[in-house]
Amino acid sequence: MSANDIKTAVKEISSLFVDGVWRPGSEQQASEDLNPLTGEVYAFVAQASAQDVKDAIEAAYRAREGWRNKLASEKEAILIKAADVVAARTDELRDVIIEESGSVFGKAMFEISYCVDLLRVAAGLVRQVTGETLPMTMPGQLGMTVRQPLGVIAGIAPFNAPFLLAMKKVAFALAAGNTFVLKPSEYTSVIGLKIASIFEEAGLPAGVLNVIPGPSEMVGEILMSDPRVKMVTFTGSTRVGRLLAAQAGKNLKRLTLEMGGKNPFIILNDADLDYAVDAAAFGIYFHQGQVCMASSRIIVEAGLFDSFCTKFAAKAKSLKTGDPHDPSTIVGPLIRESQCAVINEHVRDAVAKGAKLLCGGKHEGALYAPTVLAEVTPEMKVYGEESFGPITSVIRAADSEDALRIANDTSYGLSSAVMTNDLQKAFDLALRLEAGMVHINNCTVADEPHVPFGGVKSSGVGREGGHASMDEMTELKWITTQLGKRGFPF
Ligand code: NAD
Repeated sequence: MSANDIKTAVKEISSLFVDGVWRPGSEQQASEDLNPLTGEVYAFVAQASAQDVKDAIEAAYRAREGWRNKLASEKEAILIKAADVVAARTDELRDVIIEESGSVFGKAMFEISYCVDLLRVAAGLVRQVTGETLPMTMPGQLGMTVRQPLGVIAGIAPFNAPFLLAMKKVAFALAAGNTFVLKPSEYTSVIGLKIASIFEEAGLPAGVLNVIPGPSEMVGEILMSDPRVKMVTFTGSTRVGRLLAAQAGKNLKRLTLEMGGKNPFIILNDADLDYAVDAAAFGIYFHQGQVCMASSRIIVEAGLFDSFCTKFAAKAKSLKTGDPHDPSTIVGPLIRESQCAVINEHVRDAVAKGAKLLCGGKHEGALYAPTVLAEVTPEMKVYGEESFGPITSVIRAADSEDALRIANDTSYGLSSAVMTNDLQKAFDLALRLEAGMVHINNCTVADEPHVPFGGVKSSGVGREGGHASMDEMTELKWITTQLGKRGFPF
């Protein structure tokens, strides 16, 4: 549609943020951004054209020397000011996260407080970009490594934790001395653009951060192929991650991928049953299961299987579903009602192949009822495919070795959890689980700004967070100095 067609009954009309200036797309295109609960238009978002994407890259490229050479104290001050701005604008940001992404109140507040912490952690890392000294073979030679900013980094962010996951990329990239081009999800562009306005208020120089919602294929293709962009950091589905990896191969572009999951939550016979039920419920129903780390495969040792199923289904049925603005709502809407069809199909297929539907399996609009399938087996779609909704499979394991076998029987490898009071067994499983993250006596959903977050197998390439981000977002250079003259062979 044309920007001239925009009517007034929307909450936001968003521009692009390029080179420190808010501007409409150069082709005057805008797209509708819907409220997931009501399906009504929440915002009209200006769409970047190819020229806008190139302008954003050019702005970031021009700004890179100035930002890299800023005093550490100046960079720290801007990141800390950005944390203060986020805290001061909590109500505004919370409402955007709720209305644009369907997050419930508590999840929106979590994203905001996480980002305040994250920006402070990033500020603390500005002076931690260190190299090392190396012993050299040649007499009189000194060796060292230094870490240098890459230059321009581009980020592609998903819809599910739209503020937190985009901010994670931006904050660490800036802390490492890079400039940035951000493409938020088409479902959550407004919160992506809020990140630009937060840094604008914090005094970030023009061009250091650019935010360009736009047609994903076109924007992605330019970001992946422009040689001025030294790295792309992606969070999203494994399907799109694979496409980007192919483009990165062609262009030899540095790439980190944070992708999907089918995360095993193992409960052994000696676990505290009530605690396990609570942890599993949070693990799968937080943000309606639209979490890469969601506990979507609950693997229960035979001795606890029946009692776990009974208590867990009762807990799932008790969770309040509805308006995400209401602080007592636990399960809000999916990002789009169309996602319900994917979950319905997983339920239909599993039940047809012998699974038991313990609760849920239905929806009203985009509100999908918390759903539990028991006796799930490998030939069912839900066993291996990411559902990205409030549905989980309870799978019976003969013993802890069988639980480990089932846990690793997936192409994914993001998060995992083990519930047991036998810590020796827990550590043994933790070391053998094929996952980037293992949580003992906790659920699969966990993240902190300073931890190396990421997955193995089809869940990820690289790590994000704290020092791991600083390593991914800098170039390691080896420098030697020869004291006096050395000998050469000829
Ligand atoms: P998605 O892959 O559909 O989209 C992610 C981003 O990629 C969006 O900005 C989208 O516009 C963009 N995109 C889509 N096609 C593209 C293309 N051809 N080229 C360039 N960019 C393109 O994912 P989503 O639906 O937004 O998010 C859900 C997925 O993300 C789930 O699979 C979830 O597990 C995963 N996820 C992973 C993590 C993690 O840290 N591992 C965190 C959150 C979400």
